[in-house]
Amino acid sequence: MAVDLTPSPDVAELARRTAGFVRDVVIPVEEANDGVARTEEIRATLQSGAKEAGIFAPHVGAAYGGHGLDMRGRAAVFEEAGYSLLGPLALNIAAPDEGNMHMLEAIATDEQKERYLRPLAAGEIRSCFAMTEPAPGAGSDPGALATTATRVPGGWRIDGHKWFITGADGAGFAICMARTSGRPGEAGGATMFLVDADNPGMKPVRHIDTLDESLYGGHIELVFDNCVVPDEAVLGEVDEGFRYAQVRLGPARMTHCMRWLGIARRAQDIAVARAAERELFGSRLGELGMVQQLIADSEIDIAAARGLILRACWELDQGRSASQSTSIAKTFCAEAIWRVVDRAVQICGSLGISGDLLLGRFLREVRPFRIYDGPSETHRWAIARRVLRRHDAQVAG
Ligand SMILES: Cc1cc2nc3c(=O)[nH]c(=O)nc-3n(C[C@H](O)[C@H](O)[C@H](O)COP(=O)(O)OP(=O)(O)OC[C@H]3O[C@@H](n4cnc5c(N)ncnc54)[C@H](O)[C@@H]3O)c2cc1C
Repeated sequence: MAVDLTPSPDVAELARRTAGFVRDVVIPVEEANDGVARTEEIRATLQSGAKEAGIFAPHVGAAYGGHGLDMRGRAAVFEEAGYSLLGPLALNIAAPDEGNMHMLEAIATDEQKERYLRPLAAGEIRSCFAMTEPAPGAGSDPGALATTATRVPGGWRIDGHKWFITGADGAGFAICMARTSGRPGEAGGATMFLVDADNPGMKPVRHIDTLDESLYGGHIELVFDNCVVPDEAVLGEVDEGFRYAQVRLGPARMTHCMRWLGIARRAQDIAVARAAERELFGSRLGELGMVQQLIADSEIDIAAARGLILRACWELDQGRSASQSTSIAKTFCAEAIWRVVDRAVQICGSLGISGDLLLGRFLREVRPFRIYDGPSETHRWAIARRVLRRHDAQVAG
């Protein structure tokens, strides 16, 4: 089947308008705040600007105020939004809300959509996704899930310990993964629950101090202690949580790649501008061979990352699981984006390390991407296992 990666005229126009909004409205706010939106006021101001510009929540369907972009459409628009650390927040396409909207649109009941998706898509509330647990619980290996949900009259009682839950502080609700059958170490038996923020059984423990700061609401440790939710809080079917997680995770991996690719491009633009103007050893920095190699290698990384994202998005748009191509794209992008930002710092010398540019901030923000959404090693392990299975199937005829 022919693969067409050209964005439609509508998507190209939306991407163009997004780029203009990020350049004129978002970047000045980003630069004045060291790349971090620390207040609700900043979030609200940016989001109302994106609404006025007609580019808000472009991924959700028209029924929820968006443009219903498919994955290839998201690739074009999200990269432009990601050109600033605050662009995704402004457009309401930042993690984890964007992935949660995607999943709610795909599997929530009509009542759940009205209660959770509609205000989330409008930016009236935020959300979080609570999967990861301290050792020995779920991390790279989701099968180790130790949080339990047990039946009580009219609903379920959730007990467990979660951490690194992005955006949990101030979120209107959490989507919590809990084990409803089987034991830790077994692959099946997880269920997703919608837990309202005012549920007294869901308790924040602390903000975890991390290298990165730009994902709104921070990364939170949470305890679920006798957290009782009604039957209507089940998202999708009981015991199908791991299957639904794939509905969220494959596309969410790609949208992370798209957003961070925007930052890689920005870092490259900053470095190229510096290389073009800085005079060294009788020539422009950009005319010295080793700097040209850094610039060229970053250009190659950016182009290859975009190509892998689009290929995986095309498969997702065909309704395929795209597990191999999303793993490949995620692993490559997380590492390539880091390399591009690191090279940009090097080209800018001490200025690159300083707070006068945002490159140091970008470096801190992109590093954790090699860990969340599956560490590079977990993806490489999964990629190799699929390749070996393919080999075994070919040998078996
Ligand atoms: C900034 C940030 C935000 C996050 N946000 C969220 C969130 O919103 N919700 C949520 O639920 N979780 C979140 N997480 C957690 C994230 O999903 C986990 O960190 C990730 O799944 C890895 O789990 P772990 O940290 O327990 O590492 P571990 O599972 O302990 O893995 C440690 C290391 O083991 C290595 N490894 C893993 N698998 C293999 C393998 N097969 N072969 C060889 N080596 C391997 C890798 O190097 C890995 O980094 C976030 C994490 C970070 C850093």
